[in-house]
Amino acid sequence: MKFPCPLCRSVKEVRINRKSKPYLRCDDCGVLMFVNRPTGIRIIQAGKDLGLDKPKQESAGSFLFGQ
Ligand SMILES: [Zn+2]
Repeated sequence: MKFPCPLCRSVKEVRINRKSKPYLRCDDCGVLMFVNRPTGIRIIQAGKDLGLDKPKQESAGSFLFGQ
């Protein structure tokens, strides 16, 4: 599961903490973003549906061929 960093927009792997809550750590700009509410968790998980966890080229191909 991946999500873009809110500050530098670099797509990073979403990690899961000890309380099973997702968080984003960006090594590029140093942002640490914790997601503690179901609404935020749903948005993070929606990133998977948007193809953010796939390589960019694959997403572009899916877009072009409508798959
Ligand atoms: Zn960043």
